[in-house]
Amino acid sequence: MPVKERRIAVMGYRSVGKSSLSIQFVEGQFVDSYDPTIENTFSKVTRVNSQDYEVKLVDTAGQDEYSIFPAEYSMDFHGYVLVYSITSQKSFEVVKIIYDKLLDVIGNAHVPIVLVGNKTDLHQERAVSTEEGRKLAESWKASFLEASAKQNESVADIFHQLLLQIERNNGNAQEK
Ligand code: GDP
Ligand code: MG
Repeated sequence: MPVKERRIAVMGYRSVGKSSLSIQFVEGQFVDSYDPTIENTFSKVTRVNSQDYEVKLVDTAGQDEYSIFPAEYSMDFHGYVLVYSITSQKSFEVVKIIYDKLLDVIGNAHVPIVLVGNKTDLHQERAVSTEEGRKLAESWKASFLEASAKQNESVADIFHQLLLQIERNNGNAQEK
């Protein structure tokens, strides 16, 4: 089967670990201080269910509650990874706002999303329960994972689950 190209955006409040998750997935390492202001595109070939995907990951520079959802982000992607940090209630509130803005621009089309609570290694600083995360994802009909970019826990799962959702979403529709 030919390689399928999949464009994925990683979004969320600042400092939640968007870059760390992206780099862990693409390069298999944890980079401790990564410029928080850059938006970067990473590329990786990965196989799920004997299908090869060329994943183009756009690691966004981050959003806050006031960010305007960039129109080009609504057209250009097959799916979204929305990240908060389990140590930050604020980042959990911001991810809800990002989701609402995303829906505003795409309308009611179903969009593949994985909600990620990152930094599970910092359990002593936890501010958002697993249950809260799970419930939010359920209300979106999205997948939910808690992960640690630092410990490389559940990082590949995030992208694999999203690729499977995208596959199902495309169904018999023509390939984008
Ligand atoms: P971004 O602004 O969302 O791209 O966040 P970064 O990936 O730059 O990470 C922000 C800070 O959180 C950095 O100091 C990272 O080292 C740290 N960080 C990211 N992921 C984790 C994680 O899973 N565990 C811990 N303990 N720190 C993390
Ligand atoms: Mg970053």
